[in-house]
Amino acid sequence: MPPLTPQTPPRPAHPHICIIGGGFGGLYTALYLARKGRGRQPCDITLVEPSDRFTFTPLLYEVLTDELKPWEIAPRYGDLLQGTAIHHRQTAAQGWDLQARTVTLATGEVLTYDYLVIATGSQQRPVPVPGVQNHAYRFRTWADADALEARLAQLEAVAPPPIRVTVVGGGPSGVEVACKLADRLGQRGQVQLVEQGDRVLKPFSPRMQRVATRALVKRRVTLRFETGVQVITADALTLTTATGTETTPMDLVVWAAGTRPTPWLGGDPATTPLGQQAIRPSLQLPGQPYVFVVGDQAAMPWRRDRPAPQTAQAAYQAAATVAHNLLAVMQGRSPKAFRYLHLGDMMTLGDRDALVSSFGLLIQGRFAAFIRQVVYLQRLPTWGHRLQVARHRLTHLGIWFRRNPG
Ligand SMILES: Cc1cc2nc3c(=O)[nH]c(=O)nc-3n(C[C@H](O)[C@H](O)[C@H](O)COP(=O)(O)OP(=O)(O)OC[C@H]3O[C@@H](n4cnc5c(N)ncnc54)[C@H](O)[C@@H]3O)c2cc1C
Repeated sequence: MPPLTPQTPPRPAHPHICIIGGGFGGLYTALYLARKGRGRQPCDITLVEPSDRFTFTPLLYEVLTDELKPWEIAPRYGDLLQGTAIHHRQTAAQGWDLQARTVTLATGEVLTYDYLVIATGSQQRPVPVPGVQNHAYRFRTWADADALEARLAQLEAVAPPPIRVTVVGGGPSGVEVACKLADRLGQRGQVQLVEQGDRVLKPFSPRMQRVATRALVKRRVTLRFETGVQVITADALTLTTATGTETTPMDLVVWAAGTRPTPWLGGDPATTPLGQQAIRPSLQLPGQPYVFVVGDQAAMPWRRDRPAPQTAQAAYQAAATVAHNLLAVMQGRSPKAFRYLHLGDMMTLGDRDALVSSFGLLIQGRFAAFIRQVVYLQRLPTWGHRLQVARHRLTHLGIWFRRNPG
């Protein structure tokens, strides 16, 4: 088999690796590198990330129902990277020059690198709906969850019931937020889910769609299919349906529809129809053996007809391959091809309720919620953080099982 790299990159004795983006792709690559490279290859690792906290997105919903504490799912980089060779620069990259091997930061500073990892993830896709920007709440980052939590607390304190909530988007995020909000608000809330298509969780199996629909109906979430959003104002929402438009008063709109890869910041992007960067099976940029792209930003290989999904699961697995391949390239060995293994799907369906679907098995309910938390606990970024969360969880295990949802 021919080697995967078309040209041999330089091999400095003490290389500088610059990683842009501190999410599942970037942070985990940095941590794997620091761990695997210890004693093997001295290198400096700079992690460029504007936030001060990593967000473990799959568990972000739990903050809304107080099932998990903010420090558990959004630890600070300062704590995670303590004692490692990883240096966090809390700023955004403004651009990268692959010829000059430089990264320009928002501060104006220019970093030079020997190896570059681009892991800038995805972002909310802009939509031409008036009012989305100013009046809808997003739910992608720790800061979004914090803002939503503040709004909910304000409504719970002053708004007369029912508190009217609309969640836009029937994908996993919309379903998960709607279930959590319905459980949190209970009798005080009136939650509706608006979806342009004719069902929730369109790309998932009919069985998962049925379970999710049942969970929403059980929580009295009104399902509005084949419905679009026309305008959002500070206190109302206009929807378009097959029969016309309707405007209703609304206290809170959560926009959970549509994402796209973060725009490429370095010259001409070679993007796929999904807007992801085209890359080699080794996750290297074509013709740039010292540049790797990982996570949502990259069209990572999977099946012949489609790339790996844009999930934490895929980014986490790919980060291990990028770290392996970086060390291989630094040591003059051939990189290996990334192989994505789909382990299954998990989603929360409310307070202490979840769905776990793996290798043909589907379970739902409190036990599924417990399994989901245990699986994610092992995926938290460092051993130190995992142990802290595990200790905290174990002391609250009785309460977790006893507490009634809602
Ligand atoms: C609410 C929510 C729930 C989810 N639930 C699940 C789930 O249950 N299971 C699952 O597998 N996946 C889930 N996902 C998807 C998962 O979070 C992503 O697929 C995964 O985070 C992708 O990893 P990434 O490293 O590509 O991007 P991210 O983890 O998003 O990280 C990208 C990082 O890049 C940073 N960045 C962006 N631009 C720049 C720049 N110019 N300079 C420097 N840094 C920059 C961002 O601040 C961010 O920290 C969920 C996503 C969301 C939003």
